[in-house]
Order: sequence, then C-alpha cells, then structure tokens
Amino acid sequence: MMLSKVLYVNLSNKSINVVDRPDLFSKYLGGSGVASKLLLEETKPKMDPFSPEAPIIFTTSCMTGIFPCIVKAVSMFKSPLTKNLGESHAGGHFASALRFAGYAALIIRGASDHPVALEIMDDEVKIRMADSLWGLSPLDVEKVLRKNDKGMQSVISCGRAGENLVYYSNVIVDRYHHFGRLGLGAIFGSKKLKAISVLGRKGIQIDNPIDVKDMYDKINQKVVKSDEMAKYHYLGTSANMLELNELGALPTRNFKESRFEDAKSISGEAMAESMLRRKISCPGCPIACIHLAELRTGFAPEHEKGKKEIFHEEVSVPYNYEPMYALGSNLLIKDRRDLILLIYHCEKLGLDAMMTGTVLAWATEAFEEGRINLDDTEGIKPEWGDAESYIKMIDNIVEMKNKFYVKLAQGVVAASEKYGGKEYAMALGNNGMAGYITGYGCIVGPLVGARHSHLSNSGYSIDQKIINEPIKIESIVDFLIEQEDWLYVFYSLGACYFARRIYSKELIVEALKTLGINKTQEELLNMGKEVFHNLYKFKVREGFELEAQNIPKRIFEVQTPHGKLDFKLIKSMIEYYIKRREKEGISLRPEEKAIKELLK
Ligand code: SF4
Repeated sequence: MMLSKVLYVNLSNKSINVVDRPDLFSKYLGGSGVASKLLLEETKPKMDPFSPEAPIIFTTSCMTGIFPCIVKAVSMFKSPLTKNLGESHAGGHFASALRFAGYAALIIRGASDHPVALEIMDDEVKIRMADSLWGLSPLDVEKVLRKNDKGMQSVISCGRAGENLVYYSNVIVDRYHHFGRLGLGAIFGSKKLKAISVLGRKGIQIDNPIDVKDMYDKINQKVVKSDEMAKYHYLGTSANMLELNELGALPTRNFKESRFEDAKSISGEAMAESMLRRKISCPGCPIACIHLAELRTGFAPEHEKGKKEIFHEEVSVPYNYEPMYALGSNLLIKDRRDLILLIYHCEKLGLDAMMTGTVLAWATEAFEEGRINLDDTEGIKPEWGDAESYIKMIDNIVEMKNKFYVKLAQGVVAASEKYGGKEYAMALGNNGMAGYITGYGCIVGPLVGARHSHLSNSGYSIDQKIINEPIKIESIVDFLIEQEDWLYVFYSLGACYFARRIYSKELIVEALKTLGINKTQEELLNMGKEVFHNLYKFKVREGFELEAQNIPKRIFEVQTPHGKLDFKLIKSMIEYYIKRREKEGISLRPEEKAIKELLK
C-alpha cells in the first residue's frame, strides 16, 4: 500500500495532526507533483511569503529510500526572492528519514514567538524551545541535534542569514546538502523555526521484497557499471570549470567575459589534487558526488596576524561547479583556498552561494561605476579577486548593516532597482543565473522554467549539442518543453537530476510496477505536463508574466560559443513557447479567466 500520510504542524497554536491523502499520492506519486497540488491548496492568492499562514511543504515519493539515487526531498513555499514559486530539492537523509518515520509529506504553517526546533521521532512529534540554537551555524546545530539512536536521522537548519530574513538564505541538510536558491532559510526564520530533526525507525514496508531487490540490483548495476554517472564521482560537476572555459562559456567578471585566464588554478582537477579530502553520498546512492575540500581555519585573526600557516581546526567544505563559478571565476578569485573560504563562509551563515556571488559581482561593478560608494559599503572597497573584502561584505549582508546591505540581502534585482546597473544584474525570473553562457538555451530555459533554474529544463545542454549548427527556434523550444515535462515526472519521484540518464522511461515504468504501481509512459508524461501546469497556475496567480521578464543587456554583449546572442531571436523563442503552451491549455498570461478559474 502506498504511503500517503501528511504530517501537519502548526507553530502558532502548536497543533499537530496527520491527514491521509491517497488521492494525491496515487495521482502524482510524490515529490514535485504532490507538492504542486498542495501548494495550490494551502496558499491564499498573493500571500506575503513571511505571513505566519504561508506554508512550507516537504514531500517524498513512493520510491524514496527504495531505489538508487531516489533521495531528494522537494520543498515548496512562496519565495521571498521572486515573490512567486519557491521550489527547492535537497539530497541527504531528509526524505528517507521522513519516510522511515512514516510520513510521505510534512507541512508547516504558523509562526512561533520564540525560536523552536521541530523534532519528529516516528509517531512522537514535538515542538521544542530552541533559544540556545538561535544564532548558531547550521553546521553546529547539526552536531547538537545529531543522536546516536538507531534509525535514519536527518537534521536540517537555517543559519544567521535565514534568521535575519535574507531573501536567498538556504536550509542546510545534514551538513553537506542544501535546500538552496529561493530563500527557504528566510521562511524558516520568519516562523522562528531554527531546525527540524527527523528520526525514522519504522523503515519502509515492501510487499514483494524479492522483486524489489532484483530491480534494485538491476538499477544499481547500471549506475556503477555504465559511464552515465561516472563524471559525478570522479571530479563531480567541478569538471565543468575547464570544459566551459575551453568552450568560451564560463561566466567571468560578472558575465563580461566567457573565459577566465586563471580557471586552471580553481578547476576541479586542481581541487582534487590539493584540497580534496573525501567524497560522500546520499543514502542509497553509490556515486558519492559530494566532494569535500579540507580547509584549515584560523582561531582569531588578531592572534594570528601574518601567520597564514597556523590553524585552529580542519573543516570539510562541500564544493561543486555552481558555487565555484559564482564565487570564483565570476569574481576573478584565482586562489583555490580563497574560493573554498568564501564557500565555507556562505555555508556557516546558511546563504545561497550562487546568489551571493551574483550580488557581489554586481556590487563590484556598481562600485567601479560610482553607483555606490564607500559610505554605502561601510568603508569596504569591493575589488575583483579580493576574497577578504568579499567576506566582510557577506557578513554585512547577513547582518543588514545599512540600507545598502538591506537591498543586497533582497537580491540582485532589488539592489539594481534602487542603485541602477540593471543591465548587469545577472538574474532571470529574479533568480541569479547559473554558471553557463553557452547560447540561447541557457537563457530561454531558466526564463521559461517554472523555478527559473538551469535544472528546470537543461537549456545549457542543448546549446552544447548544437554548436556550429544554425539556430532553429522551434527545435530549441521543443527541447525545453519536452525536458521540463519529463523532468517533472522525475522530480515527482524525488530522483536526483544526475541520474536522469539512468532512469529511462521504460525503467521507471518497470520500477514502479515492482511497487505495485501501474502507469504507462504516456500516463507518466501527461502527469509531468500536469505538474508543470499546476506550477504555472500558481505562478500566474501570483502575478508572473513571462513576457514582462527582464533580460539583462549584458547577455547580448558577451561572446558565447554561438557568438553574441540576438535579442530578437530570444523574443521569438519566448513567443513560440507561449503559443505552444497555450495549445496545451496553459496560459502564461495573468488573464482574468485563468485567475477566476483558480479561485473557484
Ligand atoms: S549523485 Fe550525488 S546528489 Fe545524486 S543521489 Fe548520488 S550522491 Fe546524492
């Protein structure tokens, strides 16, 4: 029988109850699918993201904790950064622990008047006082809440950035994984929810263990014996640094250039040689793509002036391509220790490293242009390649030191609206851009994608496939639609994006069958499309207008592997995209009719 229990926790009146939703789980299987429907059900139109009634939704899937690489928990909420859909996926043990505790989903609403932590131990659910955790780094919170009990445990927590409502603060999962990008940390902060600890000891009931074990072995063999995921184990996504640099597609100096002359020194290869300590995995995944660098940190700078080699402790810092580009090539950081230090600083504070890099790159350019001055920056001169100044600025962002830093804490678009420099505020759909300047797909993909992420529809990958070919508007857009619809099947299963080539359509149908779920490929595809439509209904209801989205001018000035991009072509792609989606019955315009339909 499919697990479909939803645990509801209200932090205002401290109520806790469980509702069974077999209707949702049998239709959408879990993950993004179930979350998309719950989001529509649980949020009132135009709700303030920080209102106590705004929900945080976490979902798992029918396959979580059973098959390899099916580990992701999906969170949905209203994002303070985009004022629209907040969707974020995290690896680590959170999804499996929830399932082992007997829950398919968790919904938190309300707000406490003092810091609290939610503790879930199977059927025992408690809201505990957490004054002593407030102000701590998520890395320390994890140490405090980690238990030695048997079972699957996960600890997730926001940092100072979330407590202070930085719009792109994240929630850190089991030290090395993240609900990143769209400000879930700030939603935790607004509810005075510091952390959640889940200990699941029930396990998962499987009706036909022999068939499931055979299927597990079949998938596992494919994961470990084919080359499909090998890259993620060897260098991880940090391999992209040199590959994209070679291609002339590596965002550098706030996307002004697409090659970084010091890329080699901060490449995955250089990291592996000199800083890599070990690799770790999500539960049930044999790939171990999480690369941890060893960083020796100082105790107190005033005691250790000029003594770079003296250190206080060694810490493990997760690194992968996106933070490496955002805090590395895009800020001209060429020293790999400096780069890891910057990533670590974001980790300790619970700050999304990608948007942090985007904001710092914009500030450096705005300072060069005289749009901001030393009074705004509290005496810090932002300078390309200067990690020390950037670290001080990060602290000021998190503490919102003055009006300027308050704007930086609201994201690059908010800062550029106040101080100018919109043409180089590198965001699409208000979300900071990913580390690709590969061509049309990497721009149109995140722009049209429901969550404005490069993982929405892999636009960056089609660019690399069609280098030296003429640009065909229809084929790029068709690719983006096909990818996103199918990825929403994948994300409804809580699957890891890196395993997308392992789980073919046929294999998913087969794996579901062993769990007693009979769905054809066509039914799955229709489901993926419906999930996308649910999300766009939410987006349009909240005021999203695709045609009104800003595209920073910088995009059209930088060289890409397809030459300089043409605004007219991008516009035509968006027009064609809207027509194709309208044919499917989803309006991307906030029309009266669509809104009325939703409010029924
Ligand atoms: S490939 Fe990496 S992120 Fe994906 S499940 Fe495995 S360890 Fe986790």
